[in-house]
Amino acid sequence: MSDQIRITLPDGSVREYPNGVTSLEIATSISEGLARNVLAAKVNGTVQDATRPITTDATVTLLTWNDSEGKATFWHSSAHLLAEALEELYPGIKFGIGPPIEKGFYYDVDLNGQHFSQEDFKKVEDKMLELARQKQEFVRQPISKAEAVAYFEQKGDPYKLDLLEGLDDGTITFYTQGNFTDLCRGPHIPNTGFIKAVKLMNVAGAYWRGDEKNKMLTRVYAVTFPKQKELDEYLHLLEEAKKRDHRKLGKELELFAFSEKVGAGLPLWLPKGTMLRERLENFLRKAQVRAGYSPVVTPHIGSKQLYVTSGHWDKYGEDSFKPILTPEAGEEFLLKPMNCPHHCEIYKTKPRSYRDLPLRLAEFGTVYRYEQSGELHGLTRVRGFTQDDAHIFCRPDQVKDEFMKVIDLVLYVFRSLGFNDYMAQISLRDPENKQKYIGSDEVWEKAEAAIVEAAAEKGLRTVTELGEAAFYGPKLDFMVKDALGRKWQLGTVQVDYNLPERFELEYTGSDNQKYRPVMIHRAPFGSMERFIAILIENTAGNFPLWLSPDQIAVLPISEKYEDYANEVFLLLQENDIRGYVDHRDEKIGRKIRDSELNKVPFMLILGDKEQSEGRVSVRRKGEGDVGSMSLTEFVEFFQNEIKPTTAPVV
Ligand SMILES: [Zn+2]
Ligand SMILES: [Zn+2]
Repeated sequence: MSDQIRITLPDGSVREYPNGVTSLEIATSISEGLARNVLAAKVNGTVQDATRPITTDATVTLLTWNDSEGKATFWHSSAHLLAEALEELYPGIKFGIGPPIEKGFYYDVDLNGQHFSQEDFKKVEDKMLELARQKQEFVRQPISKAEAVAYFEQKGDPYKLDLLEGLDDGTITFYTQGNFTDLCRGPHIPNTGFIKAVKLMNVAGAYWRGDEKNKMLTRVYAVTFPKQKELDEYLHLLEEAKKRDHRKLGKELELFAFSEKVGAGLPLWLPKGTMLRERLENFLRKAQVRAGYSPVVTPHIGSKQLYVTSGHWDKYGEDSFKPILTPEAGEEFLLKPMNCPHHCEIYKTKPRSYRDLPLRLAEFGTVYRYEQSGELHGLTRVRGFTQDDAHIFCRPDQVKDEFMKVIDLVLYVFRSLGFNDYMAQISLRDPENKQKYIGSDEVWEKAEAAIVEAAAEKGLRTVTELGEAAFYGPKLDFMVKDALGRKWQLGTVQVDYNLPERFELEYTGSDNQKYRPVMIHRAPFGSMERFIAILIENTAGNFPLWLSPDQIAVLPISEKYEDYANEVFLLLQENDIRGYVDHRDEKIGRKIRDSELNKVPFMLILGDKEQSEGRVSVRRKGEGDVGSMSLTEFVEFFQNEIKPTTAPVV
């Protein structure tokens, strides 16, 4: 064993350290400040305790709160702290497992008959903070299986004994902090002192090992942070997100609904939601016509053979809606899971020459995909949805150019709808596992190069992920950040060299020879359902004026002014301004409040003065009085309001 080892850091620099150095000591040698923030370390690709000695030459990445693996270690360690606190407060409690989750962590516990509910959260949080302040170190101890079993038998912890059964002798470790010892392979943060803010979030039932034949345990969800400020911000964000939840606003604003009778995951678009959706569709239709797309329409079902040819049947058939049979023997149809095969058949309706390409076929195509009922969520996970789909058939030499045009269109859509913080993920093949994908090396390399170059030339901010490509081609996925800083995946652009092969698509080249076109799938919104869900949450229901289902509310002060209200409304309609007259026998204050709640951008208040002078009193939502105007003045004012931003003509 040599005395010195060579440590390679992420910036490529190599430093020598005594054999047995810990990642924490490496951090200290770089800066004290860094050392105070190191939660764990990735050593030769494996995340481990920052306090573990390193005994070979290694590549070391120090993990902090800013790394997802650092956060996971922090939260998993916090689960041990939660368990320690619970054991002090509830003697005799038994422990299941305590993993980190996307935001925080949980621990499954058997309270042994003791009561535990929301009212007890504060007590547990205080105990956790008290223990955290003791800066208890997480001490790792390799242990034989026999000794581990003996420990938990003596303690009387059946779940840990159950877990131990599945573990091999020689691979088992205990971790102890303070008075609490857990069976765990780690890693953990150096000590509990890093945990400065604690919040228990929820308590729920969970069967041991997820099996309903087993005992129901209590799952305690919590989240922790290295700073109180971060917890405060997180709780504020949760509160905001709850207010903006598209399922809640969709109901309040009467945009969409679900009905058990119609079926789970099948949204019903109400009149106002349909108004919004049609505006969006028309907006994209216009942009697509300008960009040279041809709209097409195809049926909601297709013969099973269509999807056998496309490969979808082999790939997804088992896990999707079952075939539809007809009275005729052997006739089988599938609900359309994708529009692409239909569009391939449109391509084949006549011979194509190199001069006809690119051919861009666009369709708002409704597709159906089976999702387990537990996976369904508002408009973001549904069983029937409409893609703003298009397929571009082009020559290989046109791929990059077409790709750049699609990027232009996607960015135009984002900017018009107020998503200014976006980036893209380039998903490439897993080079280690090439047999997973359809198509030759050569076509994959060409497609990947086209995406990478097009994204670079358009100056897109990108990350590249190996192994994330679809089975039929590499892709570019767009991600936007919403007003709360949450990331959403939106539009996707995908090169496909494979469907043209399967459908034997051809075009005649200038040399009179036959060639295969390349296919590009693209959908800037992704789906209307998902996009509108994100739009609702991003705007909190305050849509841009051009998209608002109701742009104005006409509010007569009393029924005396109803005729005048109808007259005003008619004139607005003639000028393509949408809205309604509030005819209810309610006080004007109530009418104003309700239209504010309905998030109508403008209110026109009509009383005696307005009627006699032929004017309207204009209020803007959230701001109040804008002033008195003649009807012509208001129409002009409104048209200026709708115009100056990036609002597209719809
Ligand atoms: Zn652990
Ligand atoms: Zn497609």
